[in-house]
Amino acid sequence: MTICSVEIWTERLPLTRPYVIATREVSTVDLHFVRLEGSDGAPGLGCAAPTAVTSENAEDCLGAMDAAARDILKGQDPRLLRGLARQLRLACPQYPSAMAALDMALYDLFGRSMGVSVAAMLGRLRKPLPTSITIGILPLEETLEEAKEYLARGFKCLKVKLGLDYGEDLERLQALRRAYPEGVRIRVDANQGYTIEQTRDLFYKAQDLDLELIEQPLSRGKEADMLKLSKDAQRLMAADESLHDPMDALQLAVNPPFGIWNIKLMKCGGITGALDLADLAGLSGIDLMWGCMDESVISIAAALHTAYACPKTCYLDLDGSFDLSRDAALGGFTLQDGSLHLLDEPGLGVRLAV
Ligand SMILES: [Mg+2]
Repeated sequence: MTICSVEIWTERLPLTRPYVIATREVSTVDLHFVRLEGSDGAPGLGCAAPTAVTSENAEDCLGAMDAAARDILKGQDPRLLRGLARQLRLACPQYPSAMAALDMALYDLFGRSMGVSVAAMLGRLRKPLPTSITIGILPLEETLEEAKEYLARGFKCLKVKLGLDYGEDLERLQALRRAYPEGVRIRVDANQGYTIEQTRDLFYKAQDLDLELIEQPLSRGKEADMLKLSKDAQRLMAADESLHDPMDALQLAVNPPFGIWNIKLMKCGGITGALDLADLAGLSGIDLMWGCMDESVISIAAALHTAYACPKTCYLDLDGSFDLSRDAALGGFTLQDGSLHLLDEPGLGVRLAV
């Protein structure tokens, strides 16, 4: 079997609900897609979401994806998956989302050709988990309104963006917890917006607020400052901007400043890179959260298949496709009662929308 054709294209997708985070406002997203085709007719789909987070220029990312797909994948046997994934990693380390798209497309094609899901291939061991859905930085009333809407849609877990004004952040969290004293999980993401004093203060208040975790309070580069927090506080902290690739993971695995790692396929180069991080996390006793950018169901499904095959997976934050007003693909998973269920289909279980 060989990969006989490669197709790559870009789509600009508007969001149903533009949002503000500590660093910028987001209203549309440019996604790059890849479709491989095996000589047996099986397709392999992938999606890249280059963003400022991964320091990728969208156009250069597309160029890297196109070149790597043609030079490394076209004409090759997809069953040589690990070797091809290694070549992708060497070819475009500075374009992790391009690498992620091609890597997941390979896994998809391989799984479909073998008739097994990617999660089964990787050794599925997790039952469906709830995903959080994100509330951006909003005034208090709008925060409460949005929470109400998401809970009515069945979500059980809210991720609240913080980091512009600590006083307002606390008011929003206190109002949310008062409105929902039980049955709603609340986690928060400061996107590097806090000082060490604010971080420590939020940890002290986290018990009353019943916060599940605190994501990236300090800037990337201030990991050593995190070590000044108590061990209990560190256990509640999740690394996002501080954790991109396996080199970051190596630094964060010894004397870990964060008890939780937020793995995103776009940061670490796809399923292959994510498995490397997950193995290190396992050795270091670190729990895993699986996050995303604004992405197609293709790459959200890829993250979910991988997440359900990793023993340290505890948290899902895979809400990135729900706010796209249009997607290039369908399927992959269903949302039932706030939890993400994989479809029992070969590969990633996704197909292009017609
Ligand atoms: Mg984050």
